Amino acid sequence: MRIRILFLPVLFLMLSSYGTPFHKDTSVYLCMGKGSKKYHYRKDCRGLSNCSTKIHEVTLSKAREMGRTLCGWED
Ligand SMILES: [Zn+2]
Repeated sequence: MRIRILFLPVLFLMLSSYGTPFHKDTSVYLCMGKGSKKYHYRKDCRGLSNCSTKIHEVTLSKAREMGRTLCGWED
């Protein structure tokens, strides 16, 4: 019984961290070209297909720190 009492909060923490994807830092893609001010969820996005430079993968929070906004082709 004591083991169960200890186990439940741990299980709850595991479930809550896995069950809330929005709290996780997702990877987004940036075009590093001069005019690029957007970030993209998908590497094969239409907005990125115009990119003539390297595509960088960063975290969503990092992209926002850099002043990037979500690409117009995505929601
Ligand atoms: Zn995009």
